[in-house]
Amino acid sequence: MENYDLIVIGSGPAGRRAAIQAAKIGRSVLVVENRLRVGGVSVHTGTIPSKTLRETVLNLSGWRERGFYGLAYRVKKDIEGKDLGARLRMTLDHEIDVLEHQFARNGVRTVAGKARFVDPHTIAVKNGGDSEYSFGFANAVIAVGTAPYRPRHIPFNETSVFDSDNVASDPRVPKSLTVVGAGVIGLEYATIFSAMDVPVTLVEPREQFLEFIDREIIEEFVHELRKRGMQLRLGVKVETVEIDNQGWTVSTLSDGRKIRTEMLLYAAGRVGATAGLGLETCGLEADDRGRLKVDAKTFQTTVPHIYAAGDVIGFPSLASTSMEQGRIAACHAFGAPMPPAPEYFPYGIYAVPEISTVGLTEAEVKAKNIPYECGIARFRETSRGHIMGLQGGMMKLIFSLKTRRLLGAHIIGEGATELVHIGQAVLNLKGTVDYFVENAFNYPTLAEAYKIAALDAFNRMPGRDVGGASAIN
Ligand SMILES: Cc1cc2nc3c(=O)[nH]c(=O)nc-3n(C[C@H](O)[C@H](O)[C@H](O)COP(=O)(O)OP(=O)(O)OC[C@H]3O[C@@H](n4cnc5c(N)ncnc54)[C@H](O)[C@@H]3O)c2cc1C
Repeated sequence: MENYDLIVIGSGPAGRRAAIQAAKIGRSVLVVENRLRVGGVSVHTGTIPSKTLRETVLNLSGWRERGFYGLAYRVKKDIEGKDLGARLRMTLDHEIDVLEHQFARNGVRTVAGKARFVDPHTIAVKNGGDSEYSFGFANAVIAVGTAPYRPRHIPFNETSVFDSDNVASDPRVPKSLTVVGAGVIGLEYATIFSAMDVPVTLVEPREQFLEFIDREIIEEFVHELRKRGMQLRLGVKVETVEIDNQGWTVSTLSDGRKIRTEMLLYAAGRVGATAGLGLETCGLEADDRGRLKVDAKTFQTTVPHIYAAGDVIGFPSLASTSMEQGRIAACHAFGAPMPPAPEYFPYGIYAVPEISTVGLTEAEVKAKNIPYECGIARFRETSRGHIMGLQGGMMKLIFSLKTRRLLGAHIIGEGATELVHIGQAVLNLKGTVDYFVENAFNYPTLAEAYKIAALDAFNRMPGRDVGGASAIN
């Protein structure tokens, strides 16, 4: 039996980072991956496919130019499935090549197959046939990610009813679409299809969605969706889904209404991929959603030499945070220096329009009884926004009245997921409103919105006066 310092189960962002980190500090590492090629949900069915689809749709639909040329403007008149698929395959091939090279360069061994624990220091790997191979380990990282939740009453068939893992694999442009679940994934796909003028109905059992995002940003987002004619059915459940004789989906809602669309995407949750992992042989147990509990700082499970990282441990379930968790787990396992994780990480939602946020929301600031002031900037107030023909998009900054520190940056609109990193840096470096007021920003840029929003707050804040600052606004 081969023995390794570290065995990683799963080659998504968490597994890959854990493996590379351990290899970089000179440890022997084996990665076991169930799929034919490495990359995880992130590369094969989740992050990269959905973002590639989004980029293709925004380009072909001429979405970014419609502010100037009107709603009827198109780069390609009829967008078809094959237009969407071509770019996807090229992007994925490139991503996988880069990953395989990264593993090879760092001397990380990979093996294809489904892993399960047989005791606290051994896994068995099955690849296709009946034979199983055993590998021993000193430490392990469980980075198996999640799979879509597929309730029995939904007739998934991959021709008209899809889940969040297969909707982008061979993309089609349906005549109409129902999206069940207004979580991040549901909203991303709903708005991407709607940007191609596909009529979309979004069904969500809760009255509100994206509750961790600042409410003012969500109000703006909902306004955008309604302006585009998206039907929002909030506070109702999908009771049944049937396929009619034309192959269209007919959903019956808990309020008795019916929705008939050519395609349905069920995106109401994902479950940890821990079934069949043999957790019990190591004294581990997953919760009812297949998730594992870990120490928030070290990512150790209740069995100290077995770590878990990525989506299998739950929120925030992002590729970006999964990578960091994997890295920290490997550092901890081998006693490598591990500076504490920064206080705030950004959250990006690649809907159309995109949303990105870092730090506290206004509701959180209120709940903590912190005296605060907000500043708002609209992208249409910036010269760059004029040049780009932007009509929507806003930034909201929240500052402490006591310390003047930035507490939160919340952005909706073009470039939000890039712009947020300025706010992230100022926040984690404990910067104040004065940073934005005193520093020059490239002109014309959307980043200028930081200055405008900061000045908006600054003008209502007592205390430090910076000569001329008020006059600029
Ligand atoms: C549609 C969609 C869009 C998303 N968009 C974004 C985004 O824009 N930005 C962002 O940051 N995040 C996004 N995410 C989330 C992101 O994809 C996940 O946070 C990330 O993939 C989690 O990484 P992971 O390493 O935990 O696991 P995964 O990427 O899920 O990989 C786990 C791997 O483990 C393998 N595995 C499972 N069980 C076994 C086993 N027993 N043996 C061997 N291998 C096994 C699986 O086959 C899989 O390849 C998106 C997710 C989805 C579904």
